[in-house]
Amino acid sequence: MKFHVLTLFPDMITDGLGTSVTGRAIDRGTIQVNAINIRDYSRDKHKHVDDYPYGGGAGMVMQPEPVYLAYEDLTKQSGSRPRVIYVTPQGATFTQSMAEEFAKEEELVFLCGHYEGVDERILEEIVTDYVSIGDYVLTGGELPAMVMIDAISRLIPGVLNNDESAEFESFHDNLLEHPHYTRPVEFRGKRVPDVLLSGHHANIEKWRREQSLKRTLERRPDLLEDAPLSREDIRYLKTLGYDTENEMEKNK
Ligand code: SAM
Repeated sequence: MKFHVLTLFPDMITDGLGTSVTGRAIDRGTIQVNAINIRDYSRDKHKHVDDYPYGGGAGMVMQPEPVYLAYEDLTKQSGSRPRVIYVTPQGATFTQSMAEEFAKEEELVFLCGHYEGVDERILEEIVTDYVSIGDYVLTGGELPAMVMIDAISRLIPGVLNNDESAEFESFHDNLLEHPHYTRPVEFRGKRVPDVLLSGHHANIEKWRREQSLKRTLERRPDLLEDAPLSREDIRYLKTLGYDTENEMEKNK
């Protein structure tokens, strides 16, 4: 998978993603990260890439031409026209299922805004997806692009080691994951639940499933509405006081 990132701060991208799991995946060649400095495409002798907004008001706006030239250059070099994601607080909120959808692509382009954002005309021209990482405003698009690239990368075969499987994690089947424990068996008077020490795999699986249901009910009950629940799951949730009337109908 190849990620192209159009940015005014390429070092943020290469430094951030060049570390830890994504850094290892880049070194192995499992993913490629191509951070493109939009400023290199400015025709201005001072390399300006922003200007005052028409109509007045505070802040600066990124000009369309350097973004357009940077994008055209990358499509020429790659020989394709991949999806272009503009990271923006005005986009659809990024989710695990979006990460799964994007992970099917061979190449993706991320456009990172700064200042007040980017001239609307270039967005209309090249952007295919408007995606946000949440309802708050950051100073630039580099962190959102890195968040998305990280989440997408770990779904690409070979990025995670075998002991870091992405298969059964939070949001898989719309449930949060069960809690984890490691050594020591006792820490500050708190013991690891006995079932995890029992070696009884069926009981461990049952306990994990119940913990996952309980945690989702406590922390993100909204997720349960779309979770594929078995009759046994519903029976267990009922013991926790969950109103399963509608779910019973759905799962009949
Ligand atoms: N004036 C814009 C608005 O009100 O929608 C916000 C601009 S913000 C200061 C600068 C850039 O940061 C945006 O162009 C976008 O690329 C990025 N950004 C800020 N918050 C974001 C978020 N929650 N998700 C994705 N990108 C974000």
